[in-house]
Amino acid sequence: MKFKIDSHLLRIIQENPGMQTEPISKIAEDFCKRFIDAGLIEDTPENYGAIVLQATYDKPVIRVLECLSTFLFGELKPIHCDVFDDFCNMTIIGDGNCQVCGGTLEPYDSEEREIPSGDYDIPPTYKVTKYIYKCPVCGQIIQSETEL
Ligand SMILES: [Zn+2]
Repeated sequence: MKFKIDSHLLRIIQENPGMQTEPISKIAEDFCKRFIDAGLIEDTPENYGAIVLQATYDKPVIRVLECLSTFLFGELKPIHCDVFDDFCNMTIIGDGNCQVCGGTLEPYDSEEREIPSGDYDIPPTYKVTKYIYKCPVCGQIIQSETEL
């Protein structure tokens, strides 16, 4: 599980210039892991596609702020409300191949084309022309000409 790399995440990282030397994908993973380890965000597919506010709604805000400050600055510092607002609007995604939520796409349907054998006694064969996958978490459907 990780945070989606979006404008909210990018703005928060600007709070600490030292952090900007790290690869953004690593920050997105470490950042989320910090909250999972602290017991503030549950590592469950139910949180895929959710924003931080939804995932932490039943946790004490003070603990969320402490964890955010410690991750950003390595110590407890006041967090500006705009920064906290961006934080609350960050999206949590899984590590799978669904572009929307990070869930893992599953085969859903396919379309086939008949290829005549050219011989009356030999049945035609079929070639898959379109693979259709569905995300079990968010319901996203994607079509692909090749198998994923
Ligand atoms: Zn999905």
